[in-house]
Amino acid sequence: MDLVAEAGIDVSDWSNFRGGPSKARVNPKYCYEWAFDDGEKIVITLWHDELIRENGAIERRFNLNAHVKTEQNGNRKARRTRLRAALTHALNAKLPVRVIVVDGTRGALGKDTAKVKARLLDPAPWAVVHIRGDGEILLRRGMAAAPSVDQFSISELGSDEPNRRAVSGSVIARDGAVRRAVLDRSLGLCEYCKAPGFRTSGGQIYLETHHVVPLSEGGSDRPTNVIALCPNDHRKAHHSSKKDEIRMKLLKILESI
Ligand SMILES: [Zn+2]
Ligand SMILES: [Zn+2]
Repeated sequence: MDLVAEAGIDVSDWSNFRGGPSKARVNPKYCYEWAFDDGEKIVITLWHDELIRENGAIERRFNLNAHVKTEQNGNRKARRTRLRAALTHALNAKLPVRVIVVDGTRGALGKDTAKVKARLLDPAPWAVVHIRGDGEILLRRGMAAAPSVDQFSISELGSDEPNRRAVSGSVIARDGAVRRAVLDRSLGLCEYCKAPGFRTSGGQIYLETHHVVPLSEGGSDRPTNVIALCPNDHRKAHHSSKKDEIRMKLLKILESI
């Protein structure tokens, strides 16, 4: 329940049963649920051991249609149907999916006897890559379905982009491929504070790209010197009284990536 709330879903109705607020987290209407969809935000649970690494990405591939047909347990069948509806919604509306990763042992097929040892809200958003006609669903960690954009990609920000002069320093042409690589590397999260970028009106994830050592000081225009930041941290990197300290921290982060 705490993780669902942390992902931004309203959990006040969990208290609305005979167990009352003190038992809210074991409200059977919600606590076994696999998907939460409030119309704007979608949260699902995935088993850690079912995640696979493919082509450098973390993915989960499964077929809900097959399961829905063979499932005997009515509750689980309904949960699967709701999970499929939530993921279809995410795909169609290009919404990111937040994932609660669950570790433990599953119970017998068709039973609610799983023993959960650990739960974690993945800080990175996931995307529904496809839902095929035969029901196969592919989920991928990162923002595959909603590419990130930075301050240089959005023309409507216009000339009053506050860091424009400080950011550019000169008229050296920037390498769009480097920014692209950095934004992809960020998975849509500020690489300093780990907060997700906000969603633009075009449905993309907005972060800013920053040269940790400015080009004017001989810094390189390579991913090893460029970091993806939320707008607030980007301003701090340029204007904060602690900007030297921040630069050291950013260099450390880039070293560890
Ligand atoms: Zn940040
Ligand atoms: Zn900058």
